[in-house]
Amino acid sequence: MPRIFDKAKLKTDCANCDAVCCAAVRLPYAHYPKPPRTPCRHLDETLCHCTVFNELEQRGYDICRGFDCHGAGLAVAQLFREMGRSWNTHPESATVQFHTFSIVYFTIVKYLHPDRAIELDVPEKVIEDLKPFTEAALDLLAENADPFGTLDKS
Ligand code: SF4
Ligand code: SF4
Repeated sequence: MPRIFDKAKLKTDCANCDAVCCAAVRLPYAHYPKPPRTPCRHLDETLCHCTVFNELEQRGYDICRGFDCHGAGLAVAQLFREMGRSWNTHPESATVQFHTFSIVYFTIVKYLHPDRAIELDVPEKVIEDLKPFTEAALDLLAENADPFGTLDKS
């Protein structure tokens, strides 16, 4: 059965996320071209929060303010927490988590906005290898799936 995503439920929840986007994505700022899969220099990696959040515009980080992951960040953070991991505490699995986030985010954006031009900078082989993770994270976001058996089945 194809997955169905409820747009209204695909909420960005930065307060409960592990700031996955601030490490996973590439930032195309001329004054700070942050590479992908590298924590932003303004990210507090212990607290997982932006240290310049109140002055993003003044510092020229306007894209950050409007970024909406449509729930991909929390789903991926949740998935890795279930495995007892997070990119900031387990650097050995950080790249896997970052790629997983990119794939899940790309999938959701394509679902919500099929005509939007968006590139996924993850090699095909990696996309294939990470399917167990990306599928589980997408299940967390989908209406018709319950990968961890957390819903009341009675
Ligand atoms: S500037 Fe702040 S919001 Fe933007 S990527 Fe860096 S830590 Fe995240
Ligand atoms: S990944 Fe999504 S929920 Fe997490 S900090 Fe980024 S925008 Fe917020």
